[in-house]
Order: sequence, then structure tokens, then C-alpha cells
Amino acid sequence: MKLENALKNFHPKSPTFGNVAGCTSPDRLTGTDIMAAVGMAESQAKFGMTAYFAKNDISEKDKFSTVEALVQYAKKITPKLVAKAAGKKLGYCLIVLARMAFEDYARSAGSVCQCSACSGEGMVNKKVTTTKYSSRAAIFPSFSMSQLKRYTNTERNVVETEKVICESCNGKGQLTHRCRCKGRGKVLDEAQTKLQDVPIYKDCPRCAGKGFNRVPSSVAYNAIRHLVPDLTQSSWSRNWKPFYEKLSRKCYTEEYEAERIFNKITQEQM
Ligand SMILES: [Zn+2]
Ligand SMILES: [Zn+2]
Repeated sequence: MKLENALKNFHPKSPTFGNVAGCTSPDRLTGTDIMAAVGMAESQAKFGMTAYFAKNDISEKDKFSTVEALVQYAKKITPKLVAKAAGKKLGYCLIVLARMAFEDYARSAGSVCQCSACSGEGMVNKKVTTTKYSSRAAIFPSFSMSQLKRYTNTERNVVETEKVICESCNGKGQLTHRCRCKGRGKVLDEAQTKLQDVPIYKDCPRCAGKGFNRVPSSVAYNAIRHLVPDLTQSSWSRNWKPFYEKLSRKCYTEEYEAERIFNKITQEQM
């Protein structure tokens, strides 16, 4: 059984997951069976199980433990040059990097964040320019053309602010990190579909097949620069960035391992 089926036992109102293929018959296991399997998997793949539940918002505690586990991992693999550049701030740097790496990983669950364009309000102020004409021209429509022209010269542009629906979030005030491919990571390859006359899909070019928008590593760079002001872009790219990326990859690797173990345990239960 897939790990995502276990989520329903934590919050019954969780979204229905579109893709439960690969899970032959989730109903054959009871909730108790599943929770027992979760417990067993946790004892064998703590990091991965916690990370997976954390990204699916099962509990705040899971987030803390995942970031903490990432910090521990980061300590073990800190490159010498990173440690040297960070000096006394290394501890803080590792926490910042671990938090951001987790955030990056967590986005894959289609989590939501507040829309920054409207600060979550769903509406934005838009400047609207309207042209106001002199009312006299309207009151006396019988003026001759030349006179009317004189009056239209008195037209003036009035700039007003108006509340309009935020385009970034469509008025929802929230953005999901899900890509416009609806998180599928695949889009229809129109050229190939036409050629072969059957629907052909390709990796979504916007998210490179991941299905979600990643946190750009420049965000992490800016955060670290607060702690290490001398950090240059080139030194970030050379020494820090690969290290940072290892941290988010670690979450995926651990999740993959947890998934494998959970799968095995539930297979045995059936
Ligand atoms: Zn918005
Ligand atoms: Zn996409």
C-alpha cells in the first residue's frame, strides 16, 4: 500500500488523492492495521516517515523533528569551506538551510502559502485613471463644435485607487505551490499527439516534471547573507548551494525509503 493512503487515517477529510493506482485494494486493511504499519515503519525509517507526515501537515511536531533531523545531518556533511566562511554563525546557518530545504521539499505536497501580491486579502489596490470632462460641455450640448472643443480641453485625468481581485491568486488570498500542470508534472505533448494520433505526455517544462514550484536557491542565499555578510554569489554557488541541495534531496531519499518499508509491511499484512 502506498504511504499516501495512510494519510486518510490522520485526517479523514483530507483531499481525495487522484492517483491511488499501484495500490491494489486499500480497503482490505483496516484503520488499525494501517496505524500499526505506520508505527512499524516509523521504527525503521523515522526520518522519512516524519518528513512525509510533516509535509502533509499531520502535525507541527513532525516539522520540528524533520528540521532537527536535517540539522543533524547537515552537521555531519558540512563542507570545510562552508564551515570556515560561516565561522561562529555556522549553527544558525545550518538551521536556516535546514528549514529552507524542508520548505522546498514540503512544497511537493501542494501545500499553500499566503499570496504575497495581496498579503492574503485576495484584493489589491489598482490605480485607475479616468478622464473627467468639464460638466459644462455636457450641460450645453448645443454649443458649436469649436466651443465644444474648448470645453473638452478642460478634461482632466483623475487617478483613483480601486479594489480589484488579485490576479496572482484569483482572489483566494492563497497560493498553492502546485504547478499549473495541476501538480501532475506531465503535460500533453501537442506535436507528438498530432503525429501519433494518441495522447502523448511529456514532462511539464515549467516544473521539470516535479509538479510544484520550487523555492529558488536565491532565497536561501539571501537568508544566509544576513548571517554571513561577506558571502559572495560565486562562493555561494560553488560551496553552499550544492550543500543546500543535498539537504532537500535527503528528505526525498528518506521519504523514498519510508515508502518502501511501509509498502513492504502492508504487503505482509495482507
Ligand atoms: Zn493574491
Ligand atoms: Zn508543471
